[in-house]
Amino acid sequence: MKKYFFILLPFYLLSCSSDSDSSDDVTNNDDNTIISVDGSVDISTVVQNVFDTDNGVTVNVEGETITINSTGLPDHKTPYWDIEGMAHELYEPFPSYIIDDTDAYDDDAEELSRLISTDEEGNTIITYQNNMNMDMVAFDYSMEIPTNPTEAENKEETDLGLIGMALNGVPIYNDSEGRAVLGVVAMSTFDSAGAHPGPNSDYHYHTAAQLSIYAEDNGSTYPTVNDSNLIGFLRDGFPIYGRQEADGSFPDDLDENGGHTATTADFSEAIYHYHCSSENYLNTGWYIMKAGAYHGTPGPSSGN
Ligand SMILES: [Zn+2]
Ligand SMILES: [Zn+2]
Repeated sequence: MKKYFFILLPFYLLSCSSDSDSSDDVTNNDDNTIISVDGSVDISTVVQNVFDTDNGVTVNVEGETITINSTGLPDHKTPYWDIEGMAHELYEPFPSYIIDDTDAYDDDAEELSRLISTDEEGNTIITYQNNMNMDMVAFDYSMEIPTNPTEAENKEETDLGLIGMALNGVPIYNDSEGRAVLGVVAMSTFDSAGAHPGPNSDYHYHTAAQLSIYAEDNGSTYPTVNDSNLIGFLRDGFPIYGRQEADGSFPDDLDENGGHTATTADFSEAIYHYHCSSENYLNTGWYIMKAGAYHGTPGPSSGN
């Protein structure tokens, strides 16, 4: 498919200049992925198909802008569904994990000591729990992304708040928590999906779930890292995937922003896309979805 594109494009440009018909700046390949002559890929068809309308996410394409709206509430289990003690059907208790590397927790031992215990086999385990942020509420999130995302000349750092949206409409945050870098104390408030609400009761993902945890629950819609699933789109319009490529390999050519240009299961023409970090963050077993700068230019977002 890639070959086809590179053969087709010069021919198209040639024919375009010879008959001086410049009204049409897009072309269709075999499977209707629309690419423009500058090589950027039109993401609008994929975006319209992949967001979870069952969870109330709406996608509107107008001109060269795609607007995605959501409440930010998840469609999967979390202890944060225990709103005011209601027995919500998607409630599940906080997770427990074996701590392989206790060093990662030493600095915060005092704060974490109430969460750390020893199981029957003598393993050191941590049982997560909420802090003062106990519930989550619906917001009116809006994120505008370009139909044809392109690389920015000056790469803008991601900031606090929504830097992207998962397919279920839940905001994606970077590796900051408040004005600090995310640490193990804050991470001990994560649910099994690598998310928690902030002070505004704004539920958000920092990391993606580890697929092994959900081996018995593969039908779930948790964003997961140890696979090649499409997780969502960042504010610059570029998609973000789990740690793997579609063939199961781990990419070894990611740039400093965590992405590269290649075909994916969703895009048959090469497109820039992010992958979740492959760094075992603070040896906690979690993988940050996205840190650092955007590859493209982030569009406006609002909601919380
Ligand atoms: Zn957070
Ligand atoms: Zn890739």
